[in-house]
Amino acid sequence: MSTLADSLASVRGQITAECNRLGRSEPLLIVVTKNHPAELARSLYDLGERNFGENRVQEGLPKSKELGKPDLNWHLIGQLQTNKVRQALEFASSVHSLDRESLLAELAKRTAEREGSLEVFVQVNLTEDQGRGGIQPGELQSYADRVVSVPTLKLAGLMAVASLEASPERDFETIAELSMELRKNHPNASGLSIGMSGDYIEALSFGATHLRIGTAITGNRQY
Ligand SMILES: *Cc1c(COP(=O)(O)O)cnc(C)c1O
Repeated sequence: MSTLADSLASVRGQITAECNRLGRSEPLLIVVTKNHPAELARSLYDLGERNFGENRVQEGLPKSKELGKPDLNWHLIGQLQTNKVRQALEFASSVHSLDRESLLAELAKRTAEREGSLEVFVQVNLTEDQGRGGIQPGELQSYADRVVSVPTLKLAGLMAVASLEASPERDFETIAELSMELRKNHPNASGLSIGMSGDYIEALSFGATHLRIGTAITGNRQY
C-alpha cells in the first residue's frame, strides 16, 4: 500500500514530467480533501501542500478551523448555496463554482462588507444537463462582464468538470476555446481550473492552470 507521501510525490512527478514534455509552466495543485478528516489535511500540510479543495461549506469551515493554519489557501470547488456564502467567506480564499446570478449578487454583497477581494472562477456547464452546475457557454461573456464589474471580486478564469461519459478531450477543447474568447475582453482572467484524478494529464495539454486532484493523492474518500 502506498503512503500519502508516495502518492503525492507520484502525482507531482507526473505533473512535472508532462509540463516539461509540453514546455509549459507548472499549474497550481489543489489537493481535494473533501470527505477526509482534518488529520489528512494536516499530513498534507506537513508534506508542504498549501492549497486544499473542499466542496461543502459545512465540512470545509470546521476542517479549516481545526487545522488553524493561516498560510493555507482553501478553494471552494462545489456548488455554493447563497445562504452559505457568509460562512464560505470565513475560510475560502477562492471560489471555483460561481455559476448563477443569485450567487454573484450574494458574493458581491458579502465581500463588500469586509476587507480584501475574493478570487472567483466562473464554472461552465459543458453538458446538456441544465441541472448540473455552471453557466451555459452562450451566456458566459455577459456573465463574466457582470462579475468583473464587482470591485471586490477578482475573476481568475474558468472552471469546468469534464463529462464522465466521453473522453475529456472534447470538453477540454471547448473550455480552452471559451477561455481564449474570455481573455479577449478580460486578459487577466487567464486561469483554467480543469483536471481531476482521472484526467489531469490531459488537462495539462489544454492549458490547465489549476488542477483539483483528490483520490489519486488521498485514496478513496472515507465518508
Ligand atoms: C471531488 C472533486 C474533485 C476531485 O475529484 P477526484 O476525482 O477525486 O480527483 C475535483 N473537482 C470537483 C468539483 C470535485 O467535486
